[in-house]
Amino acid sequence: LKTQNFPNVPDTDYADISHRQEIQQALQRVRQQLGKTYLPVINGEFVQTENYAESLNPSNFSEQVGRIGLISIEQADQAIAAAKAAFPAWKKTPARDRATIIRRAGDLMEQRREDLIAWMVLETGKTVREADPEVSEAIDFCHYYADEMERLDSGVAYDFPGETNRYHYQPRGISLIISPWNFPLAIPVGMTVASLVAGNCTLLKPAEVSSIIGSKIAEILLEAGIPNGVFQFVPGKGATVGAHMVKHRDVHMITFTGSQEVGCRIYREAAELQPGQKHLKRVIAEMGGKNAVIVDESADLDQAVQGVVQSAFGYSGQKCSACSRVIVLEPIYELFLARLVEATRSLNLGNTELPGTKVGPVIDANAQTRIKEYIEKGRLQSPVALEMSAPVGGYFVGPVIFRDVLLDHTIAQEEIFGPVLAVMQATSFDQAIAIANGTNYALTGGLYSRTPSHIEQAQQEFEVGNLYINRGITGAIVARQPFGGFKLSGVGSKAGGPDYLLQFLEPRVITENI
Ligand code: NAP
Repeated sequence: LKTQNFPNVPDTDYADISHRQEIQQALQRVRQQLGKTYLPVINGEFVQTENYAESLNPSNFSEQVGRIGLISIEQADQAIAAAKAAFPAWKKTPARDRATIIRRAGDLMEQRREDLIAWMVLETGKTVREADPEVSEAIDFCHYYADEMERLDSGVAYDFPGETNRYHYQPRGISLIISPWNFPLAIPVGMTVASLVAGNCTLLKPAEVSSIIGSKIAEILLEAGIPNGVFQFVPGKGATVGAHMVKHRDVHMITFTGSQEVGCRIYREAAELQPGQKHLKRVIAEMGGKNAVIVDESADLDQAVQGVVQSAFGYSGQKCSACSRVIVLEPIYELFLARLVEATRSLNLGNTELPGTKVGPVIDANAQTRIKEYIEKGRLQSPVALEMSAPVGGYFVGPVIFRDVLLDHTIAQEEIFGPVLAVMQATSFDQAIAIANGTNYALTGGLYSRTPSHIEQAQQEFEVGNLYINRGITGAIVARQPFGGFKLSGVGSKAGGPDYLLQFLEPRVITENI
């Protein structure tokens, strides 16, 4: 096996009191800026809009984080026209120069690490310890894709006596990025900088509820030196303006991360040829998961309980990689469940600005209602092993653990995206694998075991894009655990891996008879 060593940036060590103080100062600094209005960027200009959305602090919804201008359909068309006009020059810009701008953006993110964390705490209810590695991931994406572009740019020579055969990559054209709110910095940054460094003129449409962090990304890219029209920030309603841009004839590719429902819709709508369209659109769609962890009778239970609690309830279960099912072998079922319940009970719930908080709010009122509906559906089918009460004043949902959940139960099949965990029993390891594979998704999965034959069987048969053995199943790192799933979890190559950038490029071969 070939070894790859990419120098990931380190996360902050919060054991050091000076770093804890820096974060408190950043939170105060950012708090003084709450309530401002943020505008879209079209062709290098901040543009006024007719409509605005309010962004609220999910830990305290009476607090407005800011207002974001939402573009109209006409402004979306103007942005696409500006991208089209800027493309020939950006395409010709040497890859080395594009990479320099993207690396500079990564460096700016490092300089603004504390402020970016504070914005994530206030706009999306992350804890500081969840937001800090996200900044690292965003910076890693900038440096990694810049390196990757320089590697790919040299092309390949398949020369033959009397003939040169040169394999080169060129950008695809106009590229639309549609991002989710749950990794409001790292995911849009990763998708956007990959697209830009590959030479595409790129439009970023952030999720509405994390638009202010989106505008921080836009500020950084502009400051790093991205030319007008090459990068544009186009916040707008997904269902109307987002859908319009997906269908636009001049868009060449759409890179989406979000729910299965919207991803499948974009895949279908992008496939339809529009009048005057002379290409087929490429769609990358990273979607949801219904991720399982298997715990067998040989597992180190301390490790397993800790890993499952962190994977299930970190960021209130709102990670595509989160554990939402734990499948436990029958001999240790009751023991594991009892310990899992006790460990979960000890989690501190509340406002994520407070340093002791482990589980914060969910993103908004819709998410809170949807999760509560799933809890009621779960109650109709399975016994509740733990239900924690939630604080008031924010969009809080207390963690819930259901026991004896069966594979065909709703909460064992559908992505809930909240702090709800289904505990399921298996009588054999074969059955545990069958249960784990028994959904439409294949994103992450985990196994806690000290039995070599089980570890080997899981490696062969556990159908997931990212399998973690004897550790938690969240927190993938760029160029260490390239990330992404298959089945209905997505279509596309793994983010932060060696195939990712290729999706943004069109290969060409030039043969010359000499
Ligand atoms: P979502 O509701 O699907 O929204 C994602 C994005 O799509 C938002 O920017 C949204 O805009 C936009 N959108 C909505 N309808 C659209 C349409 N008809 N056409 C074009 N764009 C449209 O997902 P989310 O709630 O933000 O994110 C949570 C989901 O993302 C979960 O399912 C999670 O598993 C998944 N996820 C997957 C990965 C992965 O790597 N596989 C990573 C993170 C998250 P508005 O905000 O304006 O509606």
